[in-house]
Amino acid sequence: MAPMFKNQSPQQLTFWASLSSSAAITILILVLSKLTGLFDLSWIALALVFGLVFVVSFLGNYFFIRYYIFRKIKLIYKIIHRHKLPTDFKADKVKMGDNIFDEIDEEVNQWARARTRELDELEKLATYRRQFIGDVSHELKTPIFNIQGFIHTLLDGAIDDPEVNIKYLKRAGKNIERLQAIVEDLETINKIESGQMILDLREFDIRELTDEVFADLELKARERKIKLTYKEGANQHFRVRADKESIRQVLINLVQNSIKYGREGGTTKVSFYDMASYILLEVSDNGIGVTPQDLPHVFDRFFRVDKSRSRDAGGTGLGLSIVKHIMEAHKQTINVRSTYGQGSTFGLTLEKA
Ligand code: ADP
Repeated sequence: MAPMFKNQSPQQLTFWASLSSSAAITILILVLSKLTGLFDLSWIALALVFGLVFVVSFLGNYFFIRYYIFRKIKLIYKIIHRHKLPTDFKADKVKMGDNIFDEIDEEVNQWARARTRELDELEKLATYRRQFIGDVSHELKTPIFNIQGFIHTLLDGAIDDPEVNIKYLKRAGKNIERLQAIVEDLETINKIESGQMILDLREFDIRELTDEVFADLELKARERKIKLTYKEGANQHFRVRADKESIRQVLINLVQNSIKYGREGGTTKVSFYDMASYILLEVSDNGIGVTPQDLPHVFDRFFRVDKSRSRDAGGTGLGLSIVKHIMEAHKQTINVRSTYGQGSTFGLTLEKA
């Protein structure tokens, strides 16, 4: 198409088409009259013929093109809007004066961009699912393999050996507990991710809740000679608004980690800070710490710096991932700072009541 017609509106195109066809017909009539001599037309008559042909062809073309464009656009809309064309979309909606093709072009491009984004999202989700299933089966494999080993050894004769039979059964039992812990953590993650976890937001005293968690973990802490305490000057009572039971789980996970990865004979300190609109809670230990390379990954599911140490301590590698999910569900933050070999501090925010 000639460049001059490139950016024309349908109305302008109709005009040019009608103008050229009426000019052609008028010239044809003029030529016929001159050649045959059968009729002689005055210039006025010719002008009238030209005008009449122009008006008739303009109107004809105008409505034909409008209908034609309407049909085409309707088809495009049907495809891109998944058959949900606005019910008031009628032929007279086609604005013949505007550059309707540019509009449609833009709309189709927008639609294509949205679809590409959607596909990317789906692709990401599929990768996440694949990885998740891979991680889960990998994690389940070790305890299942261990249980299988102990049972087979017992069946192969060890059952009659009083030196080892109870020991092997106990070890198999430990691995079953591990399986149970993994499945329970997975269930918790699944609940949060699928939005099934309904937060029961209530006001409560966060210092009192921490006291309860300290009491529950006292024995575990004593086993490693770790002292659970509050930081001086940051141990006031504060009322917060949150889901108490899930915050209890967060505190349990963080304090438990401070015991598992703390130094024997060390100290876990919890502190509370009033930050105007929220309360900052910190759990600090003076344990093994995390290297800067590992630090960004501690909230990833199944991530452990030292797999065997985590396993021996009954860890699933899901604890911090659950903590992060719970804090995100509260629309609050969780972060960590750590110096390798010196200790770690996990900080989280809570809405002030
Ligand atoms: P796990 O069940 O292994 O404890 P978590 O999700 O709770 O899983 O923690 C992930 C990893 O982060 C742990 O395996 C450990 O390597 C590291 N980590 C967590 N808390 C601490 C801490 N207080 N000090 C040092 N390392 C920690």
